[in-house]
Amino acid sequence: MTTEPRRVSFIFPIYNEEDNIDLLHKTVDEVIAPLAGRYEFSFLYIDDGSHDKSLEKLTELSQADPRVSVIELSRNFGHQMAVTAGLDLVDADAAIIMDSDMQDPPRVALELIEKWEQGYDVVYAQRRTRQDSAFKKVTASAFYWALRKMAAVDIPKNTGDFRLVDRKVVDELRKYRERDRFLRGLVSYIGFKQTAVMFDREKRHAGVTGYPLRKMLRFAADGILGFSVTPLRMITRFGYLISLLSFLGVLYVAGVKAFAPETAVPGWAFITIAMFFLGGIQIIMLGVLGSYIGRTYSQVQNRPLYGVASVRTGVPEMENADSRTASR
Ligand code: UDP
Ligand code: MG
Repeated sequence: MTTEPRRVSFIFPIYNEEDNIDLLHKTVDEVIAPLAGRYEFSFLYIDDGSHDKSLEKLTELSQADPRVSVIELSRNFGHQMAVTAGLDLVDADAAIIMDSDMQDPPRVALELIEKWEQGYDVVYAQRRTRQDSAFKKVTASAFYWALRKMAAVDIPKNTGDFRLVDRKVVDELRKYRERDRFLRGLVSYIGFKQTAVMFDREKRHAGVTGYPLRKMLRFAADGILGFSVTPLRMITRFGYLISLLSFLGVLYVAGVKAFAPETAVPGWAFITIAMFFLGGIQIIMLGVLGSYIGRTYSQVQNRPLYGVASVRTGVPEMENADSRTASR
């Protein structure tokens, strides 16, 4: 085995966090200090078009600490894109993605690393409690409930993007270039050995949330639409339901004709049943269109068809391609 320290890089998306950057960096640095000999740490800050003094702060930080790199995005692209930029540019054996407002407690990073050492490729931090507004808590749990019902993959509830991902997973993630990104869903989709670490989410230290309701709804839609075609399938089900009503209508009309013909209104039956029948057919046909659109959609997402975790052959040296190339 090699004795070189393993490299761990932190990815911090920054949007108007001028009053959090110094504290964040100081706290993380203190937390990881005991591990300094065993790991080589670096910090990747991504300024996502901040309007405040964040970029100045980051520049100062990079001048003071050689482990710090700063990426300045050309405008605000949103949290998911900022993290994506970080994942694209990070160069380490593992990356730890963390919010920069101290809501994700830096000390949890140690537990993430510990699990990684046990052989997990993804260690996500799962919230036991959170210090957010009642509104945010209610909407978040409704969202995760709906997402788990609909999504084709098992996306763990109460997790944000706070997690450690092994280099293998980073390499996989880089292949996913879809525009409407829901990273935590992609990480679940990719697979590998995943586990959770529980933590209590803190309050934001300073500044205001970069996720107003508008962005939150959009993000929720990215999660559901990106991992499920259930909404499209619902069209077909609704169409069948309406058609069923027309069938019940026929039974009702036949009943009236047979048992109480004197109450039958002329023409009523024909118009009502035809209405339900045609309505049903139309909606079913929309559903048919929907299923083709659904297929077109997943084709257009252009996701890799599968990911390979390892290849085992009869030759022992072939088991790990990395060790082969390393020994050359
Ligand atoms: N963030 C970002 N771009 C944005 C919005 C947010 O990079 O457009 C960053 C922000 O600086 C923080 C993280 O994403 O590090 C989470 O954002 P925030 O704390 O505002 O969201 P909340 O915790 O309120 O959901
Ligand atoms: Mg926050």
